[in-house]
Parts: sequence; C-alpha cells; structure tokens
Amino acid sequence: MQKEVLDQKVNEFMAKVIAKNPAEPEFHQAVKEVVESIIPYIEEHPKYKDGKILDRIVEPERVILFRVPWLNDKGEFMVNRGFRIEMNSAIGPYKGGLRLHPTVNLGILKFLAFEQIFKNSLTTLPMGGGKGGSDFDPKGKSDNEVMKFCQSFMTELQRHIGPDTDVPAGDIGVGGREIGFMFGQYKRLRNEFTGVLTGKGLEWGGSLIRPEATGYGATYFAQEMLKTRNLDYKGKTVVISGSGNVSQYACEKVTQLGGKVVTMSDSNGFIHDPAGIDKEKLAYIMWLKNDKRGRIQEYAAKYGVEYHEGKTPWGIKCDIAMPCATQNELNENDAKVLVANGCICVSEGANMPSTPEAVEVFIEKKILYGLGKAANAGGVATSGLEMSQNSMRLSWSREEVDAKLNGIMKAIHTTCVKYGTEPDGFINYVKGANIGGFVKIADSMLAQGHV
Ligand code: NDP
Repeated sequence: MQKEVLDQKVNEFMAKVIAKNPAEPEFHQAVKEVVESIIPYIEEHPKYKDGKILDRIVEPERVILFRVPWLNDKGEFMVNRGFRIEMNSAIGPYKGGLRLHPTVNLGILKFLAFEQIFKNSLTTLPMGGGKGGSDFDPKGKSDNEVMKFCQSFMTELQRHIGPDTDVPAGDIGVGGREIGFMFGQYKRLRNEFTGVLTGKGLEWGGSLIRPEATGYGATYFAQEMLKTRNLDYKGKTVVISGSGNVSQYACEKVTQLGGKVVTMSDSNGFIHDPAGIDKEKLAYIMWLKNDKRGRIQEYAAKYGVEYHEGKTPWGIKCDIAMPCATQNELNENDAKVLVANGCICVSEGANMPSTPEAVEVFIEKKILYGLGKAANAGGVATSGLEMSQNSMRLSWSREEVDAKLNGIMKAIHTTCVKYGTEPDGFINYVKGANIGGFVKIADSMLAQGHV
C-alpha cells in the first residue's frame, strides 16, 4: 500500500478514535501504532474489514470504575479511584496487571489493556486482554496503609474478577506484597482459594520464575534478535532504565549471559557504573528497592559511581538498550544518540517506552528493535503458566518453567519473523508483533459472531 493512501486511512480511523476517546493521548498512541501495521494487512484480507474487527477491537468490552475509600495511619479518610478495563476476551479470560501510581487514569489503562490483547495473543496461551489499577501512590506509605488500600480496592474488584473471568497480576507499584494483601481479601470475601491473581507467593499458589519472567523474557527476546545477526550478549555493554521488578531481573539475566549492565535508574535519576552491576551489586539494588524502598542515588554513594539527577541513561554509550521503567521514557533525540553511539539492539521491558518518533529512528536505521508487546510478554506468559499450575493443583520446577518461558519467547520471535520480514530481509518487529498478535484475535472474534 502506498504511504499516502495508508496515512489517509490511518488518519481517518484515528479521527474517529480520538473523537470517541478524548483526552487519552497514550491510548491514541498505542492504537495508532497498531493500526499502521494492521490496515495494509486487512486490505489484503477483506474478511476482517467486513467484520469491522478494527472498530470492535478498540472498544473495551467493559470498563469498571470505582471509589476506593481507606483510612490512613492518622485515622484520616482517604479516597482513590480504582479501575479495571476488560478489553477483549476473544481467546481467554481477561488477563493483565494492576498499576498503582499517581499518574494512573483511564487513558493510560486503556493503552495498557489494548497492548495486552496483542501481547497475550503472541504468547500462544489462552488469555484475553485487561488492565487495571489506581491513582494510589504506594511511595511513602506504611505497610499498614498499603494493606488498607489493597483491601478496600479488592472489596469492590472481587465482584468483577475470577479464575475463569478476569485474572489480574502486578505492574508498576504492585509486587508480591500488594498481591498478597489483595489475594487475602479476595479469599476472605469469596471463601475461595483459587488462581484469581498471578504473581502470588510460592507458598500459596505462585509459580517459580514469575518474579523473574518479564526481565528474563526481554533478555531472551533480545538474544533471539541478536542471533539473527550471529551476535550474542558476550562482552556487550547494556544500558537499563528503571530499578524495579523488570529491570532487576533483566540485569540478572544479561549478566548471566555475559553482558555488562552499566546503568539503572528511578524516577529521580540514573547511576552509571562503568565496571558493571555484578551479582553482589544487584543484590544490594534488590534490597534497596524491594526492602528498604530507597532511592537509586544511594547506590552511587555506596559504590562511588556517578549519579545523574533528573536524567535518563540513553546518553551512555552501549551496544544494547533495555528501557524497563515506563511509557514514553525514550524520545527521538535519545534514539538518535543511542544509534550514533553504536547501539545495535533495543529490547523493551516496559510497555511503550519509546515514543513513535523514537521508534521511527530505530526502524529507519534498521537496528534490532523489539517492541514491548513482544519483548516483555514473558511476564504475562509465565502468569499464564501460573494459571495452568493452579488449575492442575501442581507446581512445576524452576527449570521446567524457565524452559517453557524461553520456548515461548522463541515462539514469539518466530511469529515476528513470519509476519514482519520485509523484502530486503530486515525484520520489522513492530509489524510482525502487531499482525502476528492480531490474526488469532480477529479469527476468534469472527468465529464467535457479533460480539
Ligand atoms: P516497578 O514498580 O517494580 O518498577 C518501576 C520502575 O520504573 C522503578 O524504578 C520506577 O522508579 C521507574 N518509574 C516508574 N515511573 C516512572 C516515571 N514516570 N519516570 C521514570 N521512572 C519511572 O514496575 P515494573 O518493573 O513491574 O514495571 C516496569 C515497566 O514494565 C512498566 O512499563 C510495566 O508496565 C512493564 N511491565 C511489567 C511487567 C511485570 O511483570 N511486572 C510485565 C510487562 C511489562 P520509582 O521507584 O522512582 O517510581
């Protein structure tokens, strides 16, 4: 399809989406990126056009919005807003994380739920797309306050979820502690011990490798991309952003595979450790972030390295970049700097961390660019494996789950190659992941009639 014709069709479609969903820029961005890949494909496959699949897929099946009242440690009344977006159940129960962050709003969660549809489809597992969360900020709250919030949040959410209906998991601000408090409240209200949440503790239904899965998966995906150019992680310098769940385990796996991670960050700034963040230093970061709940700046003081306040790490020379913090954290200029500094591969642990302009730079320069919905699908894939184990009332070994995760990341890569290889041999992972994820959903929607 000619570029002008495609642009016109995309703009017409986006005008409708924007009019119907005003003031949701992240949702518009996520939809646009997908329809740019899908429109040429559906023009060649009219059954999807006739079935109005694009019009249907951007419309959530259900949006749940609710009040979350709780009492802080001083006994004061606090009120937050809770959400669950049940976006698409064509191939399985809704599945996707819960985010607790002050920036959470309807548009952010719709973008994440939309991405989740395609990501979940790519995993090969039977999971629909959903996402939820609240504008509650866990930072600076006591354990007791976090528990009070989680219990109140689940008191409403429990009516809408269930092991065969909708199975939430963690995301920014929701780790093992929060999943524990929410699971406890669900069980108490429903009198059921079921796999209603994933990311549970190992003693009470969780899966081995689930905490590691997103970071490990993004690393395995990059490994597959590197293989297409006969490269690997050995001796490569890697820049990682964030220092939460995804970043920590990306750092661990990269190091195990022979790479050297030289940066990590949080929302205040980044540390640059040219000697590399080895096993011992990573253990410190895990303690700092997961137990002490401190700032990354403290790493710089402890190890005598540079700390860059208010900056992102993309100016540091590297071979591989792994954005693992948040959406739109890497812009066009950052992308140009990365490429100019010799970066050959970007594997996104976070959801939509690169702006559309940055993505354009990566594609134009033909570097190995693994977008989030493919590269970070290991997290939800292992959540799917946790659901399977819960249904069977079995636990698989660490090696078994890790092997399945690795196999799933390879399968996602194969799908991207199948749908994304261009005539000159360049693998456009954006196109590959979007079309590869779309086909299964679209065929299921057509088969299920007017739903
Ligand atoms: P965590 O809450 O564990 O960590 C988030 C990290 O990102 C922290 O270092 C945080 O810094 C930083 N961060 C958050 N918001 C911003 C911001 N606005 N600007 C700069 N830094 C920021 O979350 P996860 O590691 O679980 O999630 C990270 C990303 O990965 C998200 O995009 C998430 O959607 C995605 N993802 C997560 C999956 C999972 O299994 N957990 C699965 C697939 C994708 P600070 O502490 O200062 O807030």
